[in-house]
Amino acid sequence: MERSWVIGDCWLGCERTGVRVLWLGPVQWDGYSAPFMSCASCLARLMAQASAYWLSRPRIGAAS
Ligand SMILES: [Zn+2]
Repeated sequence: MERSWVIGDCWLGCERTGVRVLWLGPVQWDGYSAPFMSCASCLARLMAQASAYWLSRPRIGAAS
């Protein structure tokens, strides 16, 4: 999947602004939507957590 980095604010806890961030998806709550952006270091932390989650269960669409 093609992903493009933009300059923006990180939404993942480091609170840095004006850094290279990647759009991860919309945050939707009570009818509102906002872009969920993550910097590289926060993304690495999130991906490590997500990888542990993915390893604990079958892949989506994987033949079993
Ligand atoms: Zn960050």
